[in-house]
Amino acid sequence: MRDILRPRPISYGMNKSAFLKKIALEIARCPACRRGKIGKSVPGEGNPNARIVFIGEAPGREEAKTGRPFVGRAGKLLRSLIKDAGLSEKAVYITNPVKRLPKYGTPKKPDIIHGRTHLQKQLGVIKPKLVVLLGRVAACAFFDEPISVTKMHGRIIIKDGIKYFITLHPSAALRFQKFRRILISDFKKLKALT
Ligand code: URA
Repeated sequence: MRDILRPRPISYGMNKSAFLKKIALEIARCPACRRGKIGKSVPGEGNPNARIVFIGEAPGREEAKTGRPFVGRAGKLLRSLIKDAGLSEKAVYITNPVKRLPKYGTPKKPDIIHGRTHLQKQLGVIKPKLVVLLGRVAACAFFDEPISVTKMHGRIIIKDGIKYFITLHPSAALRFQKFRRILISDFKKLKALT
């Protein structure tokens, strides 16, 4: 077949950063992401070549105002844990399975199932060494069986060749000191895992 007729891989001529921007635009325009949600879309941010991706739940009020993930109280804790773990915030990627702030409470299963279609595309571009699942909603986006994050935290699960690290959501650590201790000790393991 002449080269010109051969189907081009979709990555042709596009770098990771351009791909992530394209996905962010799809998220911003996605009608399903808007259903039952308010505020700006929050696609995620960070290094397109990140070795570690952190995945939370859904944007909160601060995030929905700014369009950036983890910038409120839980976000400040997450970012300081990342730094204390010896990782640079600039070297990681931070995102959520649900890309807009739910009007009511925690995201529902259909929100998570829809949001993970965007998330899978983002991970397909970044190709991280490790995916850190922060809490139950993040775990629920990747595993069909329910996962008790308080029991499974600190462990690695390998699925379809991808390494997932289970830990708690930083907002749990803001509420309870014992969860903060768990999160700190889990984060100490991260550097060695990538
Ligand atoms: N909590 C999350 O799970 N994600 C955010 O982006 C902010 C708070």
